[in-house]
Amino acid sequence: MSETGCPVCGYPNCVELNADGEATYDLCPCCGFESGVDGIGRDREERNSDLRQRWLAGGALWWSSARPAEPGWNAADQLRAAGLTPDDDPS
Ligand SMILES: [Zn+2]
Repeated sequence: MSETGCPVCGYPNCVELNADGEATYDLCPCCGFESGVDGIGRDREERNSDLRQRWLAGGALWWSSARPAEPGWNAADQLRAAGLTPDDDPS
């Protein structure tokens, strides 16, 4: 899996770790994940999939009102593009 993009929702403009592998404290406008804050000390894969399940269970809605989604944004397409295919398609 690629290390670029949000590890939870796959949003490409959210960066979890910088080139040195340190948290960027980027707040993902798509799912609300905050690098370096959410799930500290937990296994990353487990945490990411937990957060993703929660986001999907809430309807996979765009999180930020300050940074709205691009026109035509689609959660299922984004997850697919990032290789994070949801268990059940929210569309
Ligand atoms: Zn995200």
